[in-house]
Amino acid sequence: MESLFEFIGGRHLRVDSRKVEPGDIFVAIKGENLDGNDYVDDAFKRGAFGAIAERGNGENLILVNDVVGLLAKASSFLLSTIKCKRIVVAGSNGKTTTKEIIYHFLSQLGPTFKTPGNLNTEIGIPIAVIENSEKLRSSQYAVFEIGTSNRGDISFLTGLIKPDIALLLNFGTAHRGCFSNIDEHLKEKLDVFRHSSEATVTITSSDDKRLKEHAVGLPSKKLFFGFGEGDFQILNYAYFDGDTALAFKTESGTHFIRLSGIWNRGQLLDFGAAYLTAEVCGMEEPLLYAGDLKLSFKDRFAFIEARGIKVFVDSYNSSLESAGVAIETLNKIKKNRIFAVLGSILEQGTHSGETHRALGKLVNGFNYVLIYNKNREIDAILETCKPSFISPDPSRIATWLKENVSKNDVVYFKASRGVKMEEIIDEFLERIKNGK
Ligand code: ADP
Repeated sequence: MESLFEFIGGRHLRVDSRKVEPGDIFVAIKGENLDGNDYVDDAFKRGAFGAIAERGNGENLILVNDVVGLLAKASSFLLSTIKCKRIVVAGSNGKTTTKEIIYHFLSQLGPTFKTPGNLNTEIGIPIAVIENSEKLRSSQYAVFEIGTSNRGDISFLTGLIKPDIALLLNFGTAHRGCFSNIDEHLKEKLDVFRHSSEATVTITSSDDKRLKEHAVGLPSKKLFFGFGEGDFQILNYAYFDGDTALAFKTESGTHFIRLSGIWNRGQLLDFGAAYLTAEVCGMEEPLLYAGDLKLSFKDRFAFIEARGIKVFVDSYNSSLESAGVAIETLNKIKKNRIFAVLGSILEQGTHSGETHRALGKLVNGFNYVLIYNKNREIDAILETCKPSFISPDPSRIATWLKENVSKNDVVYFKASRGVKMEEIIDEFLERIKNGK
């Protein structure tokens, strides 16, 4: 194994040959539609230093029978040699946000590793571990965001990482089309606690009875966050001058904080989960380190003020729950009218109709709803909501919007990433800036 790490030597591992840059190592994965082994030549042509594959030709080519198995073995070996405290973040919504907040806190305590971007799959996590072997070896804490799209992914990843702290943020409808029924989906998420023992800590929502009841039966130390009760209980929140005021209760009493920027209810719960994690890791007063905390995502409920129009870009991901928490905030801050531009919520499988009908009910109170139906899943929304404008053409939506919004209006963009809502957003913002 050590010789494999020497071969990799901190180089980037790429699974998409089109993304290979000179000096990278190409890792050939067999996917559902494409076989990476067919692209080994392409990777070398693009300047790959080497490749790991099941077949092919070239210098520095490591041929193995099972590339995914090798990644798992190599990352497992590396993780077995390092001593840092491991935190795993799972859930339907808010994983990346929570990982970033935990990273912010723990970096104040000591060197901290976090999985980059949203590399959270059964292939992405081993790659992140192998690529960052040196960083991991020198870290005191490591935060892993883990996702799932197949039964068994979470169990595999928690088995690999063996978390000291396992955090399950919530259980919702995101990606439910990947599972055959709700029980299977729930079991998959709860697998994050599979390796719980008296030496580990479980952190989860007190607001979701299913998660709470499961956690209570575990041998680990348990901590809960939520609105109803818990070790971190949110009492209230409000918005002032583009910031968020939050009141919450912990064992040490009632606290107030002004968080920079507009945080929705879900993001505040993520803050609570991260706060508890920081305390478990030994931070005596996380509040002292929260003043300069800012969510700096450009497409996860990101707020932009454009010529007096309040624009929320929430097009990185979509689900009923993430739309729900956003809508609550939009209603709290609105001074004038609300315009919602909606695209499909993907990966809903046979639930797609139900999901989009429910989305229609959620936005019924808005003044204007615009539907971007390039992906036709969203058409079911027409059964529960009467949109002001529908088009599969991003430019027509941007134009309609520009002609109808005015100062103090709120414009909310929401869709799954695959919808590419940015095609509308970029044009709309450009037109607003140029006044055309
Ligand atoms: P994930 O990594 O799980 O996909 P992100 O942190 O990327 O989640 O956030 C995706 C979307 O979910 C954003 O729209 C964000 O506002 C919303 N969100 C964040 N935290 C929560 C939460 N706890 N509950 C519901 N929605 C949330």
